[in-house]
Amino acid sequence: MKCPYCNNEMIAGILSGDGRSNVTFKPGEKKTGGFDRLLGIGKVTAAKHTLATFTIDADYCPVCKKMIFDTDIKG
Ligand SMILES: [Zn+2]
Repeated sequence: MKCPYCNNEMIAGILSGDGRSNVTFKPGEKKTGGFDRLLGIGKVTAAKHTLATFTIDADYCPVCKKMIFDTDIKG
């Protein structure tokens, strides 16, 4: 998808965390692996501590340093 801020092509990937180490983003269809995590590859600096394992499909704009993902709030 195109970035709504700068109109550049965004990088589709997966935002993931395992509750112990950094929240990371990896382009493509696979979440960040343990080896990537050890090396600190793809660390998302905006993320705070997480308590559980999660993955979110997200699009990242490297120009604006922004991420977009679809979500809903169930209540
Ligand atoms: Zn952008």
